[in-house]
Amino acid sequence: MKQHDPQLVDPHGRRFPYLRLSLTDVCNFSCDYCLPDGYQCSEKKQFLTLNEITNAVAAFADLGTYKIRLTGGEPTLRKDFVEIISMIKSTPGIEQIAVTTNGYRLEENIESWVEAGLTHLNVSVDTLDAKLFNSLTGHNRLKKILAGIDKALKLPLAKVKLNAVLLKGINSHQILEYTGLIRNKALSVRFIELMQTGDNLEYFKRYHVSSQALKNELFSNGWTEKLKDIASGPAQEYVHPDYKGSFGIIAPYSKSFCDSCNRLRLSSVGSFHLCLFGEKGYSVRHLLQSASQLDILKEQLIVALADKPKAHFLHQQNTGMTPNLSTIGG
Ligand code: SAM
Ligand code: SF4
Repeated sequence: MKQHDPQLVDPHGRRFPYLRLSLTDVCNFSCDYCLPDGYQCSEKKQFLTLNEITNAVAAFADLGTYKIRLTGGEPTLRKDFVEIISMIKSTPGIEQIAVTTNGYRLEENIESWVEAGLTHLNVSVDTLDAKLFNSLTGHNRLKKILAGIDKALKLPLAKVKLNAVLLKGINSHQILEYTGLIRNKALSVRFIELMQTGDNLEYFKRYHVSSQALKNELFSNGWTEKLKDIASGPAQEYVHPDYKGSFGIIAPYSKSFCDSCNRLRLSSVGSFHLCLFGEKGYSVRHLLQSASQLDILKEQLIVALADKPKAHFLHQQNTGMTPNLSTIGG
């Protein structure tokens, strides 16, 4: 594997080769923990243009970023989504192009995304119960989304993952149902502990559950912890000799979670964020207008990184400036 030397390093010695790039705040789903009333358009936001995204990607790539995840809102709602993937693919230094999607347009479009250069796919599927899926997301589309995942598994993608937010009493007792999906498929199912955000305190109090019980269940069913690759970020992986797929757990409330942080974020309106739960963003949009601004932009990114805190303050119920994850990009 190629050696990477990211110039984005924070005062705590962490390196940041991974950018999460939000393409839009807009979403067509209304997940109970994220946008329970759907996307509300109070002010007309102008999301980053293709030109602005091109300049941002060039700057991060110059600074050693080799992985970019497109997120949102629902990133695939962008009309220029395929063009964005192609542009990133043609940027020297970027090796991995990932997307996190609700899967709404997956089955119809996955081939064109992969042709354009997509290498990694994450699809959010919080339950395998069609009725429950409908009530959680506002869309009766589970079957179509699972068909999209099956199609993706046949394409030359490096990794296909399914994300599920762990919700007490909703899906926390159903997780081993996912084993049926991964016995013969190279699919990684990742459970994410529900995080508190500015808007979801009541929901969080009611439905947050630690992933410890899930871990115990996995261990008692023969799953074992995979040795962690230093570059893999905060997820812990679990494998089983009888299964082609794997499980992953993301436990943001666990001790030392932030020690392996390897990602930075750029919001859909050009605000640079050091942490999902930070108190502020650094507006760099004015530096995304022309390729001639690249050097100043890179300098500003490096300067801002000096402020990155060692860890988030979620344990103190401090969710920073994030009302829900669709605004900065989960
Ligand atoms: N719309 C796309 C999707 O749902 O996959 C991408 C954006 S969404 C904000 C990214 C991921 O964040 C999804 O997997 C979603 O389930 C997760 N997410 C949203 N709100 C969350 C919360 N409060 N706690 C944990 N995960 C959350
Ligand atoms: Fe939309 Fe994703 Fe938020 Fe669900 S989690 S409402 S799909 S942005």
